[in-house]
Amino acid sequence: MLAFTAGRLFSPTGAVEHPLVLIEDGHVVEISARSSRQVPAGVSVSDFGRSVIAPGYVDLHIHGSAGYDVMDDTADALPAIEQLLVRHGVTSYFPTTVTAPMDLTLRALERLADAIEKRERDLERHNADGKIRALPLGIHLEGPFISHARRGAHPPENLLAPTVALFERFWQAARGRIRMMTIAPELEDAPEVIAEAARRGVCVSLGHSDADFAAAERGIAAGARHATHTFNAMRPLDHRSPGILGAVLTDRRMSADIIADGVHLDPAIVKLFADAKGPEQTVLITDAISATGMPEGRYRLGSFEVDVRDGKCMVDGKLAGSVLTMDRAVRNLARFAEWDLALAVAAASQNPARVARIANKGVLAVGADADFVILNSEGEVLRTFVGGVECSR
Ligand SMILES: [Zn+2]
Repeated sequence: MLAFTAGRLFSPTGAVEHPLVLIEDGHVVEISARSSRQVPAGVSVSDFGRSVIAPGYVDLHIHGSAGYDVMDDTADALPAIEQLLVRHGVTSYFPTTVTAPMDLTLRALERLADAIEKRERDLERHNADGKIRALPLGIHLEGPFISHARRGAHPPENLLAPTVALFERFWQAARGRIRMMTIAPELEDAPEVIAEAARRGVCVSLGHSDADFAAAERGIAAGARHATHTFNAMRPLDHRSPGILGAVLTDRRMSADIIADGVHLDPAIVKLFADAKGPEQTVLITDAISATGMPEGRYRLGSFEVDVRDGKCMVDGKLAGSVLTMDRAVRNLARFAEWDLALAVAAASQNPARVARIANKGVLAVGADADFVILNSEGEVLRTFVGGVECSR
């Protein structure tokens, strides 16, 4: 058994002062106030002083980091990305594809499914390769079922009209490991594909879309319940023609994510978004690309190249992903939206886990996986643990 204590703990039900957290076999078995609980005999306590224990972050939208893209055909890619992720507090994530030629996408999906399954087997056999890293839990398919008008940097020649048959090809290649899909609801047959994906448990997210209000509502009625990098690659809000943003911001069934890097959205828009969606439906993503954690220069995203300068990733004058890390997104949200650190942390942990139906992650509660971060009062990540084991930094 392992025991941890610190100044505070962020749990789903609020903060616990001077907590004592007991962990066994990678799971949280007890959380109590230190003053009311004796440490079990023979157990030594790791004491983090005045720091905060918070749930590990969950990134539902990340293309790469540390010089690698999740679609790269090399076994080095995911381990390098995952090692960078834990330095920034992310303990689980959805590797995210970008629109690419069909064969390239199918091969990437197969490789990602292989990687996810291998990590699951290693965990079962307690056979980690010596380095504890972030866990890939499922795939986010971003494109090719997106709008030409709002494609952002996605290559136009590889966009496809959604059909259930095409979705089935992706699903088979990924062996059912697609857990999230971004789709433009206004495309013909999109509602049918949304309904089928939702039936299979995929978190269907509206994005890269030029939908009007009615088309967005049709997508929601079909089963979409989330929105991808809200405001970016979307028809802008118009007060007489509210469009997809009017639906996403006002429909209380909808959660939505944002890229809070200070580049993709003005801080005032982050506050507007946070006020509209509230502390439970606000989700932080990074949309990070391979350039994250690397010097500025030229980097690959899927099948194309991106110029990275002054913290911006650009293709043909358009933003193409970010170099944001989740710890910075949390601090930015707290600052821009004037939220307590605990609420901003929930937008990076509890909320994405709930939205994507990831069991036992994103919360510190009895029975949950012991994935957690130690933060200072500014929200900087000091240490990261996966399954109760500290990740090397
Ligand atoms: Zn995108």
